[in-house]
Amino acid sequence: MSDEIDYARGVAEAVLDRLGDLAPPWRVLAVERHRESQAPPSGLAAPDSLVVAIGRDEGDEASVRVYFSLDVPRDQAVAVTAAQIQDHAIEETGGAPLPPCPGHRHPMSARAVDGLAGWVCPRDVAHHREPIVPHRA
Ligand SMILES: [Zn+2]
Repeated sequence: MSDEIDYARGVAEAVLDRLGDLAPPWRVLAVERHRESQAPPSGLAAPDSLVVAIGRDEGDEASVRVYFSLDVPRDQAVAVTAAQIQDHAIEETGGAPLPPCPGHRHPMSARAVDGLAGWVCPRDVAHHREPIVPHRA
C-alpha cells in the first residue's frame, strides 16, 4: 500500500516537473487512499484509487485533487493521472500548451501506448514520444 502511495507521488512529481516553468508552481501535498462516502450498489466493487492533492504550499488548501486508479493497468493509471494534472494546469494558466510538443504549438497528450505511459504528439506519435515517468513507468 505505501509502495502504491510512493509510486503515485512519484508519478505526480514527474508530471509537475515535466509541465515546466510556465505551469503553476504546484507540488504534491498529500497522497491518500480514496474513501467512498457511499457504499457502491450491491454486486459492484468500490473503485480503488488514491487521491493526490496538489497545491502551492503545505497548509494551503489543495489547488486540485486528482485520482490514481489502482483498478486498471499501471500504464493506464499513469496516463490518466497525468492527463488530469495537465488539464488542471492548462486551465489554471488560461490555455498554455503544457507540456509543449516539440516544434508544434499544441500540448502533448498523455497516453498508454504499448504498455508504456507516455507524453506523445497528439497528431503523430512518431513525431514525439517520451515516458511520463522517466526510467520507470
Ligand atoms: Zn505535436
